Amino acid sequence: MSEKIWLSSPHMGGTELKYIHEAFSENWVAPLGPNVNGFEEDLERFLNQDVKVAVLSAGTAAIHLALIELGVGYGDEVICQSMTFSATANPIAYQGATPVFVDSETETWNLCPKALEEAIQDRIAKGKTPKAILAVHLYGMPYKVDEISAISEKYNIPVIEDAAEALGSTYKGKAAGTFGRFGVLSFNGNKIITTSGGGALVCHAQEDKDKAVFLSTQARDNAPHYQHSHIGFNYRMSNIVAGIGRGQMEVLSSRVEARRAMHEFYVNLFANIDGVMVFSEPNADYYSNHWLSAIVIDPEVTGKTREDLRLAFLEDNIESRPLWKPMHLQPVFFNAPYYGGKVAEELFDNGLCLPSGSNLSDEDRERISNVIKVYFGS
Ligand SMILES: *Cc1c(COP(=O)(O)O)cnc(C)c1O
Repeated sequence: MSEKIWLSSPHMGGTELKYIHEAFSENWVAPLGPNVNGFEEDLERFLNQDVKVAVLSAGTAAIHLALIELGVGYGDEVICQSMTFSATANPIAYQGATPVFVDSETETWNLCPKALEEAIQDRIAKGKTPKAILAVHLYGMPYKVDEISAISEKYNIPVIEDAAEALGSTYKGKAAGTFGRFGVLSFNGNKIITTSGGGALVCHAQEDKDKAVFLSTQARDNAPHYQHSHIGFNYRMSNIVAGIGRGQMEVLSSRVEARRAMHEFYVNLFANIDGVMVFSEPNADYYSNHWLSAIVIDPEVTGKTREDLRLAFLEDNIESRPLWKPMHLQPVFFNAPYYGGKVAEELFDNGLCLPSGSNLSDEDRERISNVIKVYFGS
C-alpha cells in the first residue's frame, strides 16, 4: 500500500524545538511564561490591526469565552452559520443558549446576508433579539464582511468571527480574525499552523483580553488566598505549546503560499473537466489562505458523485472528506430553528475537500492527479 496522503497534516518549520528547549531550561513548564507572551505578540503583529490576543487551550475555548464576555446565558439565542464544524456551535449549548442556524450563500459558502436578516427579524418578532452572530470563514474563505458587519450594526448584535480556518486570509487587505467584536483562531493539528492543540481569542480592547485571561485561569480574585467571584475555566495555553506556536509563526507566510499553490494545482487539474467547480475567491476583495481546497461536483453534468471520488481516493490511500455537514441536519441539533434554503445542504451533498497540506510532494500531487484523471476519464 502506498503511503497515506492526508487531507491536512502538521508541518513543522524547524525552530519549534528551540522555543521548547528554552522553556525547559528556564523551567517555564506552566500555563504562563515567555513563549505565551511571545506567541501573543507574534499574532498581534501578524494580524496588524492593533488587536490584543489571548492564547488558549483551543479555538473552542475561545468561542466559549467570547460568548461569556458577550453575556450569553441560559435561554438566550445565538445566530450561527449552519455550514461549519460542530465546534462553532457547541459552546452556545455549553451556555444553555439556543443556536439559530442560518444558511450559506453560494459565493463564499458562508453566512447568507439575506437569510441572516430574515432570521434576525423573525427572532425579534417572536420576542427575542439574538445575543450574537457566529460567522465563519469556511476553509479560509472570508465571509461577506461588509454585508455581515452592516447587519450586525443595524440590529446592534455583535459578531463573533470564527477565523479558526482562516489565519492568513484577508478581506480588502485586512486580516481575518480582526473584523468581529471578537475573533477566534485555532492551532489544532490539522490547521494551517498548529501547536498540536490550541487557540486564541482576538480582542479589540485590553480589558476584553484581560477578562479572557482571568476567566481562562480559574477566575482568581486579587487576594493572597484563593478567592472567587466568578465561575472560571482552565483554558489558558501552556508555555510549552506556545513554543511550538512561536516556531510556526516564523513559517506562516510560506504555509499560506503553499496552500494557495495547492489550490492553483486543483484549478489547473479541473480546468478541462466540465461540471466540477473548484472553490475560489469571488473577486479581488477576498484573499483565502485556502486552508482546504474543495470542489463541488455536478452529478448531472459529470455523471459522477463526490462519494465515488472519495472512495477512488481511498483505494490509493488518499484522504478526502465531504464538506461540513450543516449543523441544522445534525441529530444533536434537531430541535434548533433554521433559516434559509438548501445552499448548505447541496454543498454537503456534492462537495469534497481534497488533500491540501503545505507538506505535499510532487510525487503526492502526481498520485492525486492520477486518481482524478482516471475517475473523470480525462
Ligand atoms: C477547528 C475549528 C474550530 C475549533 O478549534 P479547536 O482549536 O479545534 O477547538 C472551530 N471552528 C472551526 C470552523 C474550526 O474549523
